[in-house]
Amino acid sequence: MAGSASMEIEVLVIGGGAVGLSCAYELARRGRQVMLLERHERLGEEASTHNSGVIHAGIPYEPGSNKAVLCVHGRELLYRRLYAWDVPHRRCGKIIVASAPDEITRLEALFDNARRNGVDDLSLIDGAAIRAREPHVVGTAAMLSPSTGVFDAGAFVRALETQALAAGVTIVPRAAVTAIERHDEAVGVSTDMLGSISARAVVNAAGLFADEIAAMSGESGHHIYPCRGEYAAVIPSKADLVNTLVYPLPGKIGLGVHFTRTVHGELWLGPDAHYIESKTDYESNRRPVEEFAEAARRLCPAITADDLRLGPSGIRASATARTNRSRISTLTRSATTRASFI
Ligand SMILES: Cc1cc2nc3c(=O)[nH]c(=O)nc-3n(C[C@H](O)[C@H](O)[C@H](O)COP(=O)(O)OP(=O)(O)OC[C@H]3O[C@@H](n4cnc5c(N)ncnc54)[C@H](O)[C@@H]3O)c2cc1C
Repeated sequence: MAGSASMEIEVLVIGGGAVGLSCAYELARRGRQVMLLERHERLGEEASTHNSGVIHAGIPYEPGSNKAVLCVHGRELLYRRLYAWDVPHRRCGKIIVASAPDEITRLEALFDNARRNGVDDLSLIDGAAIRAREPHVVGTAAMLSPSTGVFDAGAFVRALETQALAAGVTIVPRAAVTAIERHDEAVGVSTDMLGSISARAVVNAAGLFADEIAAMSGESGHHIYPCRGEYAAVIPSKADLVNTLVYPLPGKIGLGVHFTRTVHGELWLGPDAHYIESKTDYESNRRPVEEFAEAARRLCPAITADDLRLGPSGIRASATARTNRSRISTLTRSATTRASFI
């Protein structure tokens, strides 16, 4: 197909992560002629498989925001789809722990926030109930969210690919979009391997690179700030110390470094959240496990640095700079890494 002349398509989706695949699948199911372009050899190689695999209930988001409304609505749709497509998942529940009496007011405020978002199955539990659920976790009180769960993110991407293909989507891997031209009736999209494609509509689902795709089409006002999240993995012999999902109260940027028992039984600590310069830098200046151990101690004192190994990392596509971005250029890299462990 390399170098072929302009071809015509009704809808072109740029990006083969969970968002692009979902858009392509839903459009094709509604009778649209859809082509999806992905620059990597395999689909979902970026954020869609570099994450915690948690099905969020919708607790911390601002009431009325898209994030809150879509999370609460999408959560049950996702469970239904995971079940129907046989993707490994578990509605295991999570607790958000107040580690000291002075955190209880914040816990209650979070509870009220979640209720305003329509998360209506929450309860507040005391220290004894925490121990009954998680014998190795310490805390004064906690919020229990039964509808939070975990799923296999890689298996979900593969299921989406299978379903999209079955619905008639043409998926083209190793096809990076390099230029976009807007015309009156169509959009011209150039790729490095397919030549030029003319589409009636284009969906920009390029994740971390969505701002660059937008700029190619003449919309230069968007900026994506890469925000790395790193994990430490708990060694298998200690993974049973935490049964499900155990979070502290949310931090200023992320949800706070927490324990995730994955759907396959691994125990991860993280992710942290810190802004970086590069959209492709997953590994430089990794946070040492000792710092993860420090964060873990408040929730589960039985886990020490000796029980931890460096785990994977992922990069969030953040549309806002938030707090520490402006400090990146002025701090040394290691200081930046340590300053933002929340
Ligand atoms: C550390 C971390 C933890 C997270 N934990 C969770 C969680 O527990 N639960 C949850 O719901 N969400 C979580 N998320 C968020 C979730 O992973 C993302 O919201 C989701 O994966 C975004 O999907 P996407 O399709 O938009 O992006 P991506 O998966 O990044 O897909 C974008 C695709 O576009 C392609 N692309 C880019 N440029 C071009 C181009 N020029 N031409 C062709 N293709 C291109 C890329 O190669 C990529 O495959 C987490 C994210 C991170 C980083």
